[in-house]
Amino acid sequence: MAKKKSQNTRELTHAVEEGPYYKPGSPERTGIVEPGTPGSKLVLDGCVYDRDGRPVPHAWLDFWHADGTGQYDNEGYNLRGYQYADDNGRYHLETVRPLEYLFRAAHVHAKVRAAEGSPYLTTQLFFPGEARNETDPIFEAGTLMNLAEMTDGEKATFDFVVETVR
Ligand code: FE
Repeated sequence: MAKKKSQNTRELTHAVEEGPYYKPGSPERTGIVEPGTPGSKLVLDGCVYDRDGRPVPHAWLDFWHADGTGQYDNEGYNLRGYQYADDNGRYHLETVRPLEYLFRAAHVHAKVRAAEGSPYLTTQLFFPGEARNETDPIFEAGTLMNLAEMTDGEKATFDFVVETVR
């Protein structure tokens, strides 16, 4: 079977530094909020694509972020979790909105990998319209999420584009 020549029509998602709070070994789950966590509801949805714009089934995603008071759980794994995208490359995360902290604008950390052996993308997703986006030196306009109000919180969307192994 002839392999279709790669067009690389899509730009890779911008990488953003990992920061000091990543912890490997998070549990596999799409709802990462443990009871008693401060913060308003945030749902994040999207798709993982390759550089040709094809969805990446079963891509691996790991999310971590601060709670609604700007605190990370560095003892346990609250607001931390990994998951695999579905057959169509789609992922779904249920969490709370992180608060900005120190000089940082509000953000959600993510690591994404197309498959075992593919390179990791490490990045941070940002919220549109935040004053801190203007002053945070780590802010990256290329990883702004789309954000919409829901009756009980907010719905964010972001599609990742990652390198695959050929
Ligand atoms: Fe952070």
